[in-house]
Amino acid sequence: MAAADRTLRAAAAGGGRDAAPGGGAPGRAAAAEGRLTEARRASGYPRAVDRLIGELARLPGIGRRSAERLAFHILKADEQSGLALAAAISDVKKTVGHCPVCWNLSDGGRCEICSDGKRDHSTVLVVEEPRDLIALEQSSMFKGGYHVLMGRLSPLDGIGPTELTIDGLEKRIADPALNAAGLKVREVILGLNPTLEGDGTSLHLAEVLKGKGVKVTRLARGLPTGSSLEYVNKAVLADAIVCRQEVR
Ligand code: ZN
Repeated sequence: MAAADRTLRAAAAGGGRDAAPGGGAPGRAAAAEGRLTEARRASGYPRAVDRLIGELARLPGIGRRSAERLAFHILKADEQSGLALAAAISDVKKTVGHCPVCWNLSDGGRCEICSDGKRDHSTVLVVEEPRDLIALEQSSMFKGGYHVLMGRLSPLDGIGPTELTIDGLEKRIADPALNAAGLKVREVILGLNPTLEGDGTSLHLAEVLKGKGVKVTRLARGLPTGSSLEYVNKAVLADAIVCRQEVR
């Protein structure tokens, strides 16, 4: 089994480059199919394995080599665990959606946070992605509601205000009935990542929310707990000075 794997991998390593330039001169109508056949012959993988590697390689942070390693792991695993992985992916795509209030991940309808009557839904913390919300929830320090933008403004990537859920945020501020628990939003906390694009998005949101009757704040920046001043970079030190707090 291991020897067979090595043979397949060696074939793939040697074949990838050969296949890339497009090889000989297949007929016009069958050009695509010809190239496919050529690539398959070069890689040595059966069509289904090639397809699996191709799909895995499309995942973020997974290159061709990692995709091959994962594909072989799946091939070696027993049928039940391989199919369980396929079923889990299918399940997530079929059943998980976004909360209509805050765009957090949800099994259908409002998410757990928006359905929680004990939380203060008049305070809304705006984040870029659902995973940012999860990170904040794990701190157990915030008991308000959230709004997930589903990204951040990035003009170079063609992501403008309409690609984000800013419109939904404006609507729930304008109409308390659209907010969780029917509460009026009184404070919006900007919790975007402290990057160039995150800061740009925060500035845009502050502008959009101006005059809407809500207090706009942002998460504090500064020194990480346990850090040492001499090793902290200038930008963090500058933030720490600007965001200094009164000692009580
Ligand atoms: Zn929600």
